[in-house]
Amino acid sequence: MFFNSTRGSERGIYPSEAMIKGIAVDGGLYVPDGIPCIEWKLEDLMNMDYGAVACFIMKKYFSDFENDEIAECVNSAYDDNFDTTDIVPMVEKVGVHFLELYHGPTLAFKDMALTILPHLLKKAMSKRKIEKELVILTATSGDTGKAALEGFANVEGIRIIVFYPENGVSEIQKRQMITQEGSNTCVIGIKGNFDDAQSGVKDIFNDDEFVKELHENGFMLSSANSINIGRLIPQVVYYFYGYLNLLRNKKIQSGETVNVVVPTGNFGNILSAYYAKKMGLPIGKLICASNENNVLYDFLSTGIYDRRRELKLTNSPSMDILISSNLERLLYEISGRDEILVKELMEKLKLEGKYIITEKMKEELKDFYGGYASEAETEEAINKVYRAADYVMDTHTAVAYSVYEQYKAKTGDNTKTIIASTASPFKFGKTVSKAVGIHIDDLDDFRIIEALSKTVHNDIPQSVRTLENKMVIHNNTCKKEEMKLAVQKFLNR
Ligand SMILES: *Cc1c(COP(=O)(O)O)cnc(C)c1O
Repeated sequence: MFFNSTRGSERGIYPSEAMIKGIAVDGGLYVPDGIPCIEWKLEDLMNMDYGAVACFIMKKYFSDFENDEIAECVNSAYDDNFDTTDIVPMVEKVGVHFLELYHGPTLAFKDMALTILPHLLKKAMSKRKIEKELVILTATSGDTGKAALEGFANVEGIRIIVFYPENGVSEIQKRQMITQEGSNTCVIGIKGNFDDAQSGVKDIFNDDEFVKELHENGFMLSSANSINIGRLIPQVVYYFYGYLNLLRNKKIQSGETVNVVVPTGNFGNILSAYYAKKMGLPIGKLICASNENNVLYDFLSTGIYDRRRELKLTNSPSMDILISSNLERLLYEISGRDEILVKELMEKLKLEGKYIITEKMKEELKDFYGGYASEAETEEAINKVYRAADYVMDTHTAVAYSVYEQYKAKTGDNTKTIIASTASPFKFGKTVSKAVGIHIDDLDDFRIIEALSKTVHNDIPQSVRTLENKMVIHNNTCKKEEMKLAVQKFLNR
């Protein structure tokens, strides 16, 4: 298995190399030169634990890693970092199956990949005999930042820099990041939104002169965003594991099709589900749920991607995105791997803020269904499911649930459904508390989650409970034009 750039300039790249570089030199994303099929019957995998399934799937993509190297990475990541041995529990409520992807150290699904990425990168570096210090540059809409910091803190030979939108993350998310320990970590709030942070990071990657200067000083850039294949591939695993869970518990029959609903921002999580489907997992519809930043909904219904609109700050901040990076990988697949076309579309997006796909590509989108939920609908969904089943969803999962209900009402499709549940409700305590009817008027964020915990009879996760008394370590902010300077400053310390 080798990796190619979606924009054509690079081919035959080793998985370890693609992982280290993060993004191709032409600005394209690395994609596998063919999506591998599973040659085993799913029943044969049914009794494997999470780690075993993870090894099985990842080996197919990370072909220049030995089996025991992957196993070591898997074992170091999916251990008591997670608060359940099942790693991703499946919970059946209100007629759907919630795949809870937030039982890792930072309480969001980003942990599924970011607990393993540092281990994979370390191995990749020794494989490629790289002696430079790796600098992980990350833009975050809130959850990636903390998960990456936690994963990379104090990892030797690696430094990590996180840019987050100063006013675009939840209070808990912010506190999680600015209290991060580890001498190799740097956290900076930018005066701008997530798209600004993400394009700033991409510009740094594409700044040849700066990259050269870094090289001369012994540094090499890499990425912990979902543009990195080291993020994407570990996320394929839980779709398999979730399906196998339903099979094992006789909720579905062998070969039965299930639909998947994914609350979507940068299109990484749902793209992993698409890869799983292409590998042979019986997924029917891929239901893409957006919040009021509904570019993807528009795209899936019209074939026109148009980012020329104001980004809204919503109660599901990790999805406040207008440029969904990983969509590029989907364009690559649905265009029949037409690199020239992908490059053209991406240039259009950059220059004109908009592109239109061909009719043929549109046809290839038939497995996707796009929907979106307003802020009010998101809160209603939280309230409804809580009243009906005593089950508390976070705001992102609630967006997915709301879109799922719309989908069902519209299509009458009763196919069994998995909803990707992407964060703990305690990470977004303010909105969740309000939605379940708690009066939060004069309360600060920590009092709010205490009230939430009491009301819904769920313990506050340890990592949130201890946040209040942690010292703020990072209080730097910068303008979006100053990101490069901020990187230089941190590296020259
Ligand atoms: C990142 C994130 C999302 C969006 O996932 P993408 O892979 O960017 O589409 C949804 N929910 C939560 C809680 C997140 O942290």
